[in-house]
Amino acid sequence: MARPRRLPFSSYLAALVLLFVATAAAGVAYGKHELDGDARAQALADAQASARQASAAVTRALNELAGEVAQVAATPHLDQTFVGGCSLKFGGVGPFGEGNLDVVRPNGTVACSSSPGKAKEGFKGAPWLRADLRGPKLYGPMDNPVTGTLSVAEVAGLPGGGAVAGFVDLVSLGPGLEASFGGPQELEFLVTNARSTELLATSSDPRRWTGAELAGTPFSKGRGSLRRGVTGTWRIFGSSTIAPLGWKVYAGYDEARALAAISKSFDQEIFIIIAGLLVAALAAVYFSRRVTLPVERLAKAVRERARGQRATRAEVCGPTEVAVLAEGFNDLVDEVEQEFHQRQRAEEATRMAEESYRHLFSHNPQPMWVYDTETLKFLAVNASAVSHYGYSREEFAAMTIRDIRPPEDVKAMEATVPVAPELERSGPWRHQTKSGEVIEVEVTSHSLDFEGHRARFVMAENVTQRQAYERQLREIALRDELTGLANRAVVLDQLERALAQAPHRQRLALVLCGLDHLKDINEAHGHRAGDSVIREAATRLETVVMAGDTLGRLGAADFALVSEHMADETDAISVAGRIEGVLASPFKVEGKELFVTASTGIVLVDAQRQAEEVLRDASAAMHQAKDAGGARYEIFNSTIRERAVARVELASALRRAVERGELRLYYQPEVDVTTGTCAGVEALMRWWHPVRGLVPPAEFIPVAEETGSILALGHWALQEACRQAAEWRGQAAAPPQISVNLSAHQLALPDLVSQVTEALDQAHLDAGSICLELTETALMQDVDSAMATLGALHDLGVQLSIDDFGTGYSSLLYLRRYPVDYLKIDRTFVAGFGADTHDEAIASAIIGLAHSFGLKVVAEGVETEQQLELLRSMGCDLAQGYLWSQPVPSSELPSTLRAR
Ligand code: C2E
Ligand code: CA
Ligand code: CA
Repeated sequence: MARPRRLPFSSYLAALVLLFVATAAAGVAYGKHELDGDARAQALADAQASARQASAAVTRALNELAGEVAQVAATPHLDQTFVGGCSLKFGGVGPFGEGNLDVVRPNGTVACSSSPGKAKEGFKGAPWLRADLRGPKLYGPMDNPVTGTLSVAEVAGLPGGGAVAGFVDLVSLGPGLEASFGGPQELEFLVTNARSTELLATSSDPRRWTGAELAGTPFSKGRGSLRRGVTGTWRIFGSSTIAPLGWKVYAGYDEARALAAISKSFDQEIFIIIAGLLVAALAAVYFSRRVTLPVERLAKAVRERARGQRATRAEVCGPTEVAVLAEGFNDLVDEVEQEFHQRQRAEEATRMAEESYRHLFSHNPQPMWVYDTETLKFLAVNASAVSHYGYSREEFAAMTIRDIRPPEDVKAMEATVPVAPELERSGPWRHQTKSGEVIEVEVTSHSLDFEGHRARFVMAENVTQRQAYERQLREIALRDELTGLANRAVVLDQLERALAQAPHRQRLALVLCGLDHLKDINEAHGHRAGDSVIREAATRLETVVMAGDTLGRLGAADFALVSEHMADETDAISVAGRIEGVLASPFKVEGKELFVTASTGIVLVDAQRQAEEVLRDASAAMHQAKDAGGARYEIFNSTIRERAVARVELASALRRAVERGELRLYYQPEVDVTTGTCAGVEALMRWWHPVRGLVPPAEFIPVAEETGSILALGHWALQEACRQAAEWRGQAAAPPQISVNLSAHQLALPDLVSQVTEALDQAHLDAGSICLELTETALMQDVDSAMATLGALHDLGVQLSIDDFGTGYSSLLYLRRYPVDYLKIDRTFVAGFGADTHDEAIASAIIGLAHSFGLKVVAEGVETEQQLELLRSMGCDLAQGYLWSQPVPSSELPSTLRAR
């Protein structure tokens, strides 16, 4: 839309100044006109007054003349007087400067004259020479016969005839009037006859004009009383009638002079006005430069900004308000600019965001689509959806979301569609591609308005593979890897589930079955062999399981059976029997035949129980069976529970035993078989329980091993033995060496060597006075580290002994690699002497072999002379046993030794 052109403010200002000038000019013109009028009126009034004064003066002069004439005429004996000597004098009357007094005889001759030289002609024929004339009476105008000039006369008749005549010269009237009333050059006096046709007197060049005809209209009515005077000058005339004559006196001001004064003052005014205008114009210019210009610049800037020139800045100038306005404008522009940039950035960001969202949608590797929530029709699909599902975009456009479901699932599809506006994750759902392949997807969706539709955005994630993995993983998580049986978690879960139903069934049992001596099999034949034994056992145990029962593997060699088919102990015994049965035949492992037994613990659930408790009880029963030597079963009962409880109590009491000083070391001598002298003593631990009294090591050592207290106990034993050795040193019957038993747990300690060093240092003892006893199973647990530790101890000078030799599965050849000094033949072999010839043969072989390796042999548990005799014949070096002494407190040892 075209903007109406607007004039700049300065043009209004200019127009205003022009208007002002015009008004002033008009005012001036009008004022001048007015003033002119006033001046004319004034001049006219003045002229009028002068005219009246002049006519009055003329009348007065005529009256005076008449008086003089009358006076002369009244002079007695005028005849004689004049004849005798004429002495008339005429000095002029009023404005009339010239004239003469004449006494005229009746014949017209001059008897006496005030101007005797001139009065030659006389007044013969003069109209006023009449006998009846008295007078004085006015005559004229006429030529004065005496002077020959135009005059008027006052004539008074004399009684004897003749007359006295007083003439006044009209030529002198004009200058006279002027002298009296005119002022310098100001007034022109004209005296005319009554009709103003003849000029009778004038103040200007009177000799030339007096008596002349007055040509044309004497006074222009239109311009007041303006007319040219006799000299041709424009004058303003006033008039007055001289009463005695009927003549008119005109007094005329020079118009130019009359207006001149006014025009002068008027010029001053004009000057002031012009000066004022100039000041106003200058003010306007100044104002325009100082105010209008900045305002216009500001306006220009505003216009430019409005037209979109964003860089526009207003110049900050002009008066404060304008400058502030300009600053304000600039601030506003800056702010708008800033806002503009911000908006631009925001728009850019929005655009980019939209762009990236579009990109996110169309290029997303996940299939995405938008569908109408009412018609279920696809509204948009991305490339990934096309490639995943095999339908083209056009095909999708004609489909609903039902068409990507397998037909059997469509029936189950809910009629309602979720409308949650927030993101919602659901699935997995089954979808079908165009090729008919069924895939599993998880969808993330939310509602939105899409191109006028109430729609839902869906992102599908193909989880087919993942689901497969998950199923696999679940399988793995639930299965025991080695046997394929249920794992511990599943067993416990199954147990818990069964327990929850148990009150109704009353037939629930947990059977724990632990393979005996698996550790030994591992050590002797390797872990692969152990694993195949476990697998084989699992296979066999599965034959025992009845439908609905759960068989699983809990740990290393422990199997669990959750059975819901056991009504009572008879059933339990039969299950235990069957387990024994399936394990009875030998296991073929790596070409060898192994016999495997199991310890079985059974719990019959007879009340509301927790799974943990049931498991603990079954475990207690199984351990009971194991403690009893294995290859048997125990049905959990109150005794087992009591024993288990007692065991727990024992464990906790044991933890405090060291601190409370309840432990003691007893000593049993080791005797040189050949000399019968004491070669050393074995330190054996005793526990004086505050309530139970003496607790044998067979009872508390295994518990200590299980609970870890053995470390504290062993450490104490080591220190106590060293202390005792130091105490005995130097005594006559002191044993030369003390043997201390070490547990497998102690051997595994990284600081065992420093513990030993410390104990020796504290007692200031030689390393050689100590012998450490380790069972062969302890040595077989971590061969490398055991080797290193034993090496270090050996380097220290400590003697080393292999305890309970022959009960484990280690071979002597293998043990030869250890830096040991003694072999202790287990008590069971010695006990078997006589009864079983094998034991003697084994003992003999061990002694022979040990000697060939340079080891000394100690026989344990020697109770009889026969046993001693046999051992001696076998070449056994040392022996210990009740034959000499039971383990005794340190205080009793010297007497015991002396007794020997
Ligand atoms: P061990 O090391 O084999 O100890 C020898 C066991 O045989 C001792 O049983 C001893 O009293 C017993 N004994 C000795 N001579 C005869 C005999 O003629 N006939 C019979 N029947 N037995 C005999 P004890 O003192 O009851 O110790 C049992 C086991 O406790 C020890 O067997 C040892 O393995 C363990 N033990 C004892 N004290 C300690 C200790 O301080 N530390 C560690 N780690 N274990 C210890
Ligand atoms: Ca021992
Ligand atoms: Ca032993």
